[in-house]
Amino acid sequence: MKRIYLDNAATTPLEPQVLEAMMPYMTEKFGNPSSVYSYGRECRLAVEMARKSVAGLLKARPAEIFFTSGGTESTNTVLYAAVHDLGCKRIITSSIEHHATLHTVEFFEKKGWIKAEYVKLNKNGHIDLADLENKLASSNEKTLVSLMHANNEIGNITDIQQVGMLCRKYDAFYHADTVQTVGHFPFDLQNTPVDFINGSGHKFHGPKGVGILYVNERIKISPYIHGGGQERNMRAGTENLYGIVGFAKALELASNNYEKDRAYISGLKSYLKNQLQENIEGVEFNGDQEGNCLYTVLSVCFPKNEKTSMILFNLDMQHICVSGGSACSSGADAGSHVIRALRNDSDKVTVRFSFSKFNTKEEIDHVVAVLKELTQETAIA
Ligand code: PLP
Repeated sequence: MKRIYLDNAATTPLEPQVLEAMMPYMTEKFGNPSSVYSYGRECRLAVEMARKSVAGLLKARPAEIFFTSGGTESTNTVLYAAVHDLGCKRIITSSIEHHATLHTVEFFEKKGWIKAEYVKLNKNGHIDLADLENKLASSNEKTLVSLMHANNEIGNITDIQQVGMLCRKYDAFYHADTVQTVGHFPFDLQNTPVDFINGSGHKFHGPKGVGILYVNERIKISPYIHGGGQERNMRAGTENLYGIVGFAKALELASNNYEKDRAYISGLKSYLKNQLQENIEGVEFNGDQEGNCLYTVLSVCFPKNEKTSMILFNLDMQHICVSGGSACSSGADAGSHVIRALRNDSDKVTVRFSFSKFNTKEEIDHVVAVLKELTQETAIA
């Protein structure tokens, strides 16, 4: 039976054209980019062409783009550098960040390196900008603000321009975790008041294990990983050559087809939302689904009953792949820290549906039919 994959915020299938671009670097072009002979030079050229392409697509400068192993490493690099190179003693973040940020901030606080402050959230899950400003104004301590651009569980988008302007006003550094928006959203980094962003290839049909860190040229930081002089002495280790080539190709395809893909995927998302509203009593949506929200993510609360209390398992039995929160917390019983921060009702179960251009309306129809069946049980008293 064919599986239906609606967990594209966790990871996406590799685009065939991306694999095609990567293949030569997995076969005949196997050189080490640091080698001076021709094998090495052709690979060095591929890395630098990829950097140029990525920088161009994000409207940054090539010197501001560093290749890493993904979103998590990029975030760790930023947080570590903020403390050890930029002298930050305070990190302002939120309770609904990805664990790559949250757990790192908690670790730093335990070490005694920083004081963490968590900005308040509005009812619909957006950052309370007035609270952010109060926090920024309340201390002269050197501060890093680390707030995600789009939330991977509920899809809410934070206005980078607004947060960036506040950070500039109070002379704070600003890291936006853009893992869910790079490849899904047009960037113009030269005109965005942000110091650091990150991206991850596997979120937009590129390969896993490769990402970027953007460091605004006004900032100077030292490496997080020490060793060789790769990435202009900023990230040691032999480059993930085919990953880097794949990342650049995937971003190129995503950027070239952005309007078309966005329209198509938004259509699927609203279709699922409407179908759920029409067919399932008591269904609710998390986050700002009608407002500033990712077109790729729909977070849904279903009333709890015998079947929906095991909803992920029951959907999996029907070959439907979705997530209850972020992929990184699935398997753990604690549930999603994001949903817990936003709502406190144990009579609901949350499912995150996340879409890609490879999903179809027929798949959505099938999922709705299965969900209708699962939610028809009488609710547990
Ligand atoms: N930040 C966000 C918002 C994410 O969604 C993810 C992955 O789920 C990450 C960071 C971590 O990225 P990576 O898987 O590349 O380490």
